[in-house]
Amino acid sequence: MPAKRHYKVLIIGDRCKDCGICVYVCPTNVFEKSRKLMNKKGYWVVSPAHPELCVGCKLCEYMCPEFAIVVKYSPKPYSEVIMSSGS
Ligand code: SF4
Ligand code: SF4
Repeated sequence: MPAKRHYKVLIIGDRCKDCGICVYVCPTNVFEKSRKLMNKKGYWVVSPAHPELCVGCKLCEYMCPEFAIVVKYSPKPYSEVIMSSGS
């Protein structure tokens, strides 16, 4: 049986507009709406709270209208929010 793969779920926080699409489309409930971190545009940034549940389908990455999510293989489940936008 192949080893279980793990993923890193990265949010580019300054791009997030708190639309909730990622929360809606993720089949394993990796994301949570959060009121902990506000970006410079004044939006609350979604929280990738449960990276250990990620199955790497990339639906979130494809569906985020702001291109604010990147999912990659990782040696262990991991999530990060970075606040530099590049756009
Ligand atoms: S889909 Fe993108 S913009 Fe919308 S809440 Fe998720 S990360 Fe933020
Ligand atoms: S890649 Fe799939 S399982 Fe992982 S966070 Fe995105 S939508 Fe959820």
